[in-house]
Amino acid sequence: MGTSTALFLARRGCDVTLVDREGAAMRATSRWNEGKIHLGYLYGADSSLNTARHVIPGGLMFGSLLEQLIGRDLDSHTTSQDDIYLVHRDSVVGTQVVRAQFRAVSELVRQHPDASRYLTDVSAARATELSPAELRAIAGDDIVAGLRVPERSVNTRWVADQLVAAIDAEDRVTLQTGTEVLGVDGLPDGRWRLRADGGFADEFDVVVNALWNGRLPIDVTAGVTPEPPWSHRYRLCVFARTREVVDVDSAIVAVGPFGDVKNYNGRDFYLSWYPVGLMAEGSDLELSAPETPTGVELERFLDGVRSGLGAVMPGIGRVFDHAEEVTVNGGFVFARGAGSIGDPASGLHRRDRYGVQRFGSYFSVDTGKYSTAPWLAERLAKEIAE
Ligand SMILES: Cc1cc2nc3c(=O)[nH]c(=O)nc-3n(C[C@H](O)[C@H](O)[C@H](O)COP(=O)(O)OP(=O)(O)OC[C@H]3O[C@@H](n4cnc5c(N)ncnc54)[C@H](O)[C@@H]3O)c2cc1C
Repeated sequence: MGTSTALFLARRGCDVTLVDREGAAMRATSRWNEGKIHLGYLYGADSSLNTARHVIPGGLMFGSLLEQLIGRDLDSHTTSQDDIYLVHRDSVVGTQVVRAQFRAVSELVRQHPDASRYLTDVSAARATELSPAELRAIAGDDIVAGLRVPERSVNTRWVADQLVAAIDAEDRVTLQTGTEVLGVDGLPDGRWRLRADGGFADEFDVVVNALWNGRLPIDVTAGVTPEPPWSHRYRLCVFARTREVVDVDSAIVAVGPFGDVKNYNGRDFYLSWYPVGLMAEGSDLELSAPETPTGVELERFLDGVRSGLGAVMPGIGRVFDHAEEVTVNGGFVFARGAGSIGDPASGLHRRDRYGVQRFGSYFSVDTGKYSTAPWLAERLAKEIAE
């Protein structure tokens, strides 16, 4: 969110300082996630369809906005097949409800004027049911139905590298990395003084707080009181590269605390199994990242992903068997809701309240989703520049 905003602002003629506590930009959650460019199907438990309506516009525009920012074609770093939603017998919503919800989401997508601008043309989007034979070929006994939808995902590590290169090439952006923001103080003239560790301090006309898991404590220093409820989670996932092409579908087990597999190009994979990957959660102002496991604990984590996911998608064992490189990394999820994802009434099944809050020339951004960040960033940059 911060990187996209900085690039869009610079291209509108603004001078920008991008501050990050990591040693480089794009090292945190936006590098280590699944990269699903949402059309709204995931939020099958939000019967109001508000989440789908909220994520669709940004998801449809993700590819063209990102290509503008990085000056590269995304095609070969985007999944080429439809995603499959596998409905688990313990899904928080039943199969009939999922089917009806997917029909309604498809209709919202089809009706949208930007439907042809998605990563693949979705102006005729629909969810198609897997036949019993197709389902048996890929799914375990706990899966009761499967629906194919035209959602795509991007390889987030490749995107992160391209955004870093774009920032490096942008004269109007000054990178201030390795610098932890400690506070933002309002000045009498309406400007802002940013304080950071290492003695860094500077004054700015406009501040955009896009710190994700680190956002709320800084809002407080700026005089903004966060509105409960909110929650943070830290999830660990597996990023694998195989020696040879492995033919495994991109699929997500829905709806609830299960897992998913993403096949970006036949050799690069994302795998997650929620019950073992959820490393920390809380509703304090900020959640710290737990240590990434090593040694025996790392082996136990990998076994947990393999057995949890393998029970519902037996084919994924081949990804592990043919892996030449396995990276385990994690990221944060901030949500304007709390509770357990296994509870249908939990606020975590909605993502319709994120976005930008403005307080004079201080902007606090709840990114909400990776998939909508460039779209939010473009609108924010326009508002600031104008
Ligand atoms: C496992 C997992 C899978 C996900 N899958 C998807 C998906 O498929 N599709 C989707 O749309 N979304 C997905 N998400 C959500 C998505 O990844 C996030 O919404 C998105 O990446 C947040 O972007 P961001 O720029 O706000 O945060 P980040 O990318 O985390 O950027 C925040 C930056 O702020 C810096 N920072 C934080 N605090 C400070 C401080 N005090 N001082 C200085 N710098 C600071 C960090 O170092 C970081 O660089 C997933 C999340 C997880 C964890």
